[in-house]
Amino acid sequence: MSRGSQRPSPEAAAVAAEALRHLEWMRDAGVREIPQPPSPSGRGHSGSSDSMEGEGGRFSAAIAGPYSLRDKGCGSEALLAVRHELGECVRCQLHGGRTTLVFGVGNPRAELVFVGEGPGGEEDRQGEPFVGKAGQLLTRMIEAMGFQRSEVYIANVVKCRPPQNRDPEPDEIEACEPFLKAQIAAIGPRVVVALGRFAVQTLLRDGTPISRLRGRWREYQGVRLMPTFHPAYLLRNPADKGKAWEDLQLVMKEFGKSPPGTR
Ligand code: URA
Repeated sequence: MSRGSQRPSPEAAAVAAEALRHLEWMRDAGVREIPQPPSPSGRGHSGSSDSMEGEGGRFSAAIAGPYSLRDKGCGSEALLAVRHELGECVRCQLHGGRTTLVFGVGNPRAELVFVGEGPGGEEDRQGEPFVGKAGQLLTRMIEAMGFQRSEVYIANVVKCRPPQNRDPEPDEIEACEPFLKAQIAAIGPRVVVALGRFAVQTLLRDGTPISRLRGRWREYQGVRLMPTFHPAYLLRNPADKGKAWEDLQLVMKEFGKSPPGTR
């Protein structure tokens, strides 16, 4: 058989399918030119955010307890301290229905943090935020902005899955939000992107509809916050992907990244 007629391996086919989905997101968002990949330098880049490489290794013995710098979202001494404080939390009723407490994931020194509402079914199973269908779209959005998923940090307002994916209740938010605040303080990002009505309205204490809050800079814990649509909403309403992309381009500008097609 000639080389030209060989079928691609399943791995190559999977990579190609993922690349196609990425391009589809860019096209749906109105992008007509492909951005360059980010340079692998600077504080924002950490391809091993949840590994023991770098500073993580040096602090591995600093805090004794059941969690380690290797655990998802715990890659710095400061984040690990937050994780220890949170523990196997029973502060609200959500603990009763969880499989896994979903702390966060990503670069412990990220300049960019994404905050969603709370874990869904897949996140509850895997112990990582945004790994289901909406998570796959979020990853494509992050990459379209010129970042890698591993360069940013991702967390939620609440760390345990609400039953039937209902909105978290006020007492659940009250119990959990201090840990989100502590995570953000530990990371020290330049920008937080709040995803969706619930996260935006909760963090900003502002009940204005998301359609009016999105795309305008706000502040949370002394950090610039950009409200935008939730990827799950965008999956249901693809016509609004362009608006979300406008919001994300404002964030890119903050990092000196050129929106594709404007160079
Ligand atoms: N939706 C969210 O808001 N958070 C997740 O982690 C997954 C889906």
